[in-house]
Amino acid sequence: MEILDNTNIVQCSYCDRLLRYTEEDISVDEFYPHPFIICPCGQGVKVKYDIAKEVNFPDTFTNYENAKKIDDKTINEWIARGLQYLEKNKDNDYFYVSSGDSIAMCLREADQIDIYVAKDYWHMSIE
Ligand SMILES: [Zn+2]
Repeated sequence: MEILDNTNIVQCSYCDRLLRYTEEDISVDEFYPHPFIICPCGQGVKVKYDIAKEVNFPDTFTNYENAKKIDDKTINEWIARGLQYLEKNKDNDYFYVSSGDSIAMCLREADQIDIYVAKDYWHMSIE
């Protein structure tokens, strides 16, 4: 059994239970702004989560500075595809293309679409 220290104990503010948890107990969802665990009383309880174990810029990222250079004409084609996609797919809020040293993103935000282009960017994935 894993030994837990005080950073892995939290008190539920609804029922006052002390809750021990491991990283596997932690959830995130788009409707709750902080990582949380579910108390037996049914409430979500905010927890501290040491994201730096998994995500630590720049050490855990890949940099694309030395990848194949993408020309501006290609990037403008990506943007046009993104705008067309968001026009046709009103339920989706983002579109992106990445290749070589470049990434282009179109993000729907309320009534506008924001377009980002980055070169020599950094990226990582977490599961
Ligand atoms: Zn509770």
